[in-house]
Amino acid sequence: MRRVVVLLLWTCVAGAATARGEDSACAPVEIAPRLPPTRERVRAYTPVFDLCAKEGASRLAIRRMNVDGTPLLLTVDPQSLQTSLERAACWRCEETSDAAQAKTRYLQALHPPDDPTRPPALVNAGLIHGAGGGAFLTGDLCPTRKPLDRAFFEKLAAQGQHTPVTLAVSGAWLQRHHADFAWLREKERTGALAIAWANHSYSHPYVSRLPDQRNYLLRRGVDLDREIFETEKLIIAEGETPSVFFRFPGLVADAALLEGLRTRHLVALGADGWLALGLRPRPGSIVLVHPNGNEPVGLRLFSRLIETGAMPLPLRPVNDAP
Ligand SMILES: [Zn+2]
Repeated sequence: MRRVVVLLLWTCVAGAATARGEDSACAPVEIAPRLPPTRERVRAYTPVFDLCAKEGASRLAIRRMNVDGTPLLLTVDPQSLQTSLERAACWRCEETSDAAQAKTRYLQALHPPDDPTRPPALVNAGLIHGAGGGAFLTGDLCPTRKPLDRAFFEKLAAQGQHTPVTLAVSGAWLQRHHADFAWLREKERTGALAIAWANHSYSHPYVSRLPDQRNYLLRRGVDLDREIFETEKLIIAEGETPSVFFRFPGLVADAALLEGLRTRHLVALGADGWLALGLRPRPGSIVLVHPNGNEPVGLRLFSRLIETGAMPLPLRPVNDAP
């Protein structure tokens, strides 16, 4: 027993990338968060687009990195869109292209067919409505000093085991809310919630009263790659795996930002059910609330819609939306 404790302690202190399960050295990697967590654990972070194979399985790698000295890949299952961190040494990879992968569900989500009925929106581009019924619940964690609204998540967990929710987290929120993030991870570990982590940029620029076309990530000097990668590195250092989804701050993006996002193989996640703006969900809606303490009215509306049966159910995982 004592030996086990010592080993566990060593693992925590060393912060080594440890395999989930002991049966395979090539199982998806789980990073043990360290206190204080630091981006410096995740080094040589590089965008790639590789087709990787291992024992009959294939994945698309979108990032390479080195975590605590171990070379890892952030990979995407091209059909389910599920992401995982994998040991690079376990996979044989070669460079691929969007054209070569065009038939996969993932690339079709990245390059959806043009919808002539939609204006070339500055606001709310990307995926705004999901396939099929139910609803896709998303919560944005924009930077704030306020604490996470834990009561909202407790109510959500009461919907049943593994209730799916997508949290679009900004790096600046994560930097200030390590305890809240750990609390959410615990909700996941116990099976109360099934959380998908979307990227909500690192700094989430916003200046009140500036017009949209000069605000958010359209502010002068914004480095989109930095906004993407620094947040992904933080999510990984905190022990989670980024999904393929990115939500633009304010839901504001122009054609250049959308193209930049596609180049990094991320799917823009809009919303057609921002509850606090008075938008009512219908089957397939991507519902948007702010559980970061900034918009309690949206959370109250969500509870009321659930209680009155007006929320389309079931709540579904975002990977099913495209
Ligand atoms: Zn936001």
